[in-house]
Amino acid sequence: VESENDQTAPLGDRRPLASTSRGAFGEGHRTRTEDGDAGLHFEAAIFDMDGVVTDTTAAHSGAWKQTFDDFLKLRAANHDERFIEFSRDDYLGFVDGRPRYNGVETFLKSRGIELPRGIPNDPPGFDTVCGLGNRKNVIFIQIIEKEGVKTFDSTVSLAREMVRRGIKIGLATSSYNAEEILGRTGIPRLFEAVVDGVESATRGLKGKPEPDIFSAAAADLGVPNGHAIVIEDAVSGVRAGAKGGFALVIGVAREGNARELRENGADIVVQDLSETNLEQINLLVQDKRTSAR
Ligand SMILES: [Mg+2]
Repeated sequence: VESENDQTAPLGDRRPLASTSRGAFGEGHRTRTEDGDAGLHFEAAIFDMDGVVTDTTAAHSGAWKQTFDDFLKLRAANHDERFIEFSRDDYLGFVDGRPRYNGVETFLKSRGIELPRGIPNDPPGFDTVCGLGNRKNVIFIQIIEKEGVKTFDSTVSLAREMVRRGIKIGLATSSYNAEEILGRTGIPRLFEAVVDGVESATRGLKGKPEPDIFSAAAADLGVPNGHAIVIEDAVSGVRAGAKGGFALVIGVAREGNARELRENGADIVVQDLSETNLEQINLLVQDKRTSAR
């Protein structure tokens, strides 16, 4: 979806909105029946955090670039090689969305570089995969502390609309900083279930591009994958969504990477969630389910 939204769905296909209870309980009162909102074809939505809910992509990509460029320069000097900088494509293809140390390994492998994995307690530095990841995290936290965390209004309002319609909202992020980041956003506790990097480590979940983290969030919400949609901005994340058999995978291509997201499993791609809405998403879920039959 890259153009107007409301008009793309033929009116005849629209299901009537289920009525929501107002009055005594106020606007926010939910009226979930056993089957949920009668007009809806899915029960839960799992959002990625960085780049979908929070405007933190620049902080991440900036911190990775500084870390890897410093590392690659040193390495080039030591090996008498040419320095090739860490590029935007490197970020999007090898690092974005993956658990931190897996991102380091995936990128280094792309350059034919092998480092010992090390341990998560390694000091920030250049000697191990964990050391590099930790260095990136120090820089990332510095950027966040200096610049704060903004959220995307379009995402927050779509999530709120979903909550009003009785859809359960979850968050699945590789981030080990989710609690701190969400705490800085000023959005109240919007997500009923949060599975982050810390939780993943505790439960032994495989990181994106494996679907485990999304499946865990859906399970925490009590909804099977086939009745949950995934909203993701990373190649690794849409691959995870496609692998997990979810009701719909929405790609958010803020980096001009719509094609990559589509090729890796997004059912639809928007540049920002303001380009779509709940009715259209609902119809897409219905279409995908019908065509899968
Ligand atoms: Mg992301």
